[in-house]
Amino acid sequence: MLIDLHTHTKISDGLDTPEQLVAMAKAARVSVLAITDHDTTAGWQSLGSAERISIGGSGEPHLQLVPGAEISCLTTGGMSVHMLGYLFDPQDHALVEMMATTRDDRIPRIRKMISLLNQAEISVTFEDVQAHSDSATTVGRPHLADALIALGVVRDRNEAFARYLHNDSPFYVGHIAPTPEEAIATIKRAGGVSVLAHALAGSRGATYSLDEISDLVAFGLDGLEVDHRDHDRAARLDLRRLACDFDLFVTGSSDYHGENVGHRLAMEVTSPEVWEGILARGSGSEVQQI
Ligand code: AMP
Ligand code: ZN
Ligand code: FE
Ligand code: FE
Repeated sequence: MLIDLHTHTKISDGLDTPEQLVAMAKAARVSVLAITDHDTTAGWQSLGSAERISIGGSGEPHLQLVPGAEISCLTTGGMSVHMLGYLFDPQDHALVEMMATTRDDRIPRIRKMISLLNQAEISVTFEDVQAHSDSATTVGRPHLADALIALGVVRDRNEAFARYLHNDSPFYVGHIAPTPEEAIATIKRAGGVSVLAHALAGSRGATYSLDEISDLVAFGLDGLEVDHRDHDRAARLDLRRLACDFDLFVTGSSDYHGENVGHRLAMEVTSPEVWEGILARGSGSEVQQI
């Protein structure tokens, strides 16, 4: 039973439409799939009943689709943290407002990054970025990376991040975001389950200490994403131990953004026992059979 609880679509910075992602997940024999676009639920919500029937036509295996989102957070110290939420009420006012505030500020943020790149004689425009984010509700750095690829400035997203877009780059600009504590509380008030994403992925920038992670338990943190391609063996061991000490869910997931090097659906998975626990704890929305 393949359970993948962290994936992205074109509605944020993934490369597939929600329909394509679901079809690929079925082809890969995934049984449980969470669509966790950055700061939006529009992706899985766009899978209306008509599509659900056509994607899940007779003869095809069925899939349990888990309502989710990956909330971009900023600690009081200014560090970027991602919080996964599952099975929350997608109409919850505070959660809807929190995500909308973040999404709105992502536009001026990308414009500021473009302006800094322009000052360094890299001529990319907001229209170039829009050409790569036209299906997206949430605009992010990967769309700017795609614009730089199209302009021939870099070869791929990895090179764009390594040279220009990483968190410590002179071209980096942040955006408004809730603190991880606020995100956990908001997810939980909406009936959801909170799981800290790729907490020790050092290649993406500064990370929490284990003590800081354990401090989140008091705010209601439910789980840790342990098995993630950006975690080495030591990171996984540390996180697994911490999860055991604090009785947190241990998840594994692909963080799939599209079929390119390093991304494969269900390349890391969550155990059926943990999934049952998450399902039992979430009370804001239901899993959809599609
Ligand atoms: P943003 O939300 O706009 O700050 O962009 C963050 C997203 O960029 C992440 O969710 C990843 O999809 C992607 N990303 C972050 N770091 C890297 C990296 N080093 N290489 C490629 N993609 C990255
Ligand atoms: Zn992403
Ligand atoms: Fe993330
Ligand atoms: Fe992600």
